[in-house]
Amino acid sequence: MKLNKLIKYLESIAPLSYQESYDNAGLIVGDPNTSIKGVLICLDSTEDIIKEARKRKCNVVIAHHPIVFKGLKKFNGKNYVERTVMQAIKHDICIYAIHTNLDNVYHNGVSSKIAEKLKLKNLQILAPKQNMVKLQFYLNPNQIHAFQNATSREGIPDSLSNLHSLLAARTGLKEDAAEMKYETTLAKNEVSQVVHFLQKATGNTSIDYQTNTVANINAKVGSGMIGSLNKPILTSTFFKRLKEDMNLSGFRHTAILSKKIQKIAVCGGAGGFLLPEAIRAGADVFVTADYKYHEFFDADGQIIIADIGHYESEQYTIELLHGLITKKFSNFASHCTKLNTNPVFYY
Ligand SMILES: [Zn+2]
Repeated sequence: MKLNKLIKYLESIAPLSYQESYDNAGLIVGDPNTSIKGVLICLDSTEDIIKEARKRKCNVVIAHHPIVFKGLKKFNGKNYVERTVMQAIKHDICIYAIHTNLDNVYHNGVSSKIAEKLKLKNLQILAPKQNMVKLQFYLNPNQIHAFQNATSREGIPDSLSNLHSLLAARTGLKEDAAEMKYETTLAKNEVSQVVHFLQKATGNTSIDYQTNTVANINAKVGSGMIGSLNKPILTSTFFKRLKEDMNLSGFRHTAILSKKIQKIAVCGGAGGFLLPEAIRAGADVFVTADYKYHEFFDADGQIIIADIGHYESEQYTIELLHGLITKKFSNFASHCTKLNTNPVFYY
């Protein structure tokens, strides 16, 4: 099976358009037409992971964190990023990252996995994405024909995986002309790409379209999650459970408050930016990672911040991706890494 097919599936769960602007999710190294021999799943695609992939006969690495965030100008192996990319290319190993796009989905996302581990109910996205727009465009019969020809010839690019659903969402005829109206909600930064693609696919015709900012917000897309336990429990009981459920040797937290714990906000990785949302939503505790000393003061007697460590908070993402891939595909082997790539050690 071609890697392309696996990518399409992963992006049907976590479309690339959901990633944050600083991110670099997607296929980072390799050809999407590569035939998959085996898949290795990890959080960080390090040099050791590439070695493990070679040993386990995997030519595709699916990582949560992108190994490359900014432009690489030289490939001399002077740091771990250059060395990892060089090793991957040398040994024909593809690296695909599914990062903040996976953080930002309601189902099968990084934070929903934490919520599942903590047995939280009534889950909601903590900070739904705001920058969604409704795109409406109209195609005349010639354009529809040209578009269908172009896409059956060249396919729809991975970056526009949403377009499938978009084309299914025909909502009727424009009042004054024999044009078909299409409508979809998508991320703001995706609009120009979609319009450009439509123009090109219809032979550089001008596309009649309009956009409206959607006030709601897509409640199923965004960062962090909030949910609740069946009944309130003592903080000490919750802390004990947190350690067990997230397999922690310890964690840092702010002062324990007098009330019991029932509502819990979670965010995998560096979630400190969501603290105001967690407080506003009435969370008793916010489970996340990457807190700095002064930021702990922001709990301010209103909430308990529990910093469980970046790797620890995201470790079950590996199991999540493995479950999704093995459930869908049986024609190649997919493995969870045996390595712990956490760069942080505790003494
Ligand atoms: Zn992370």
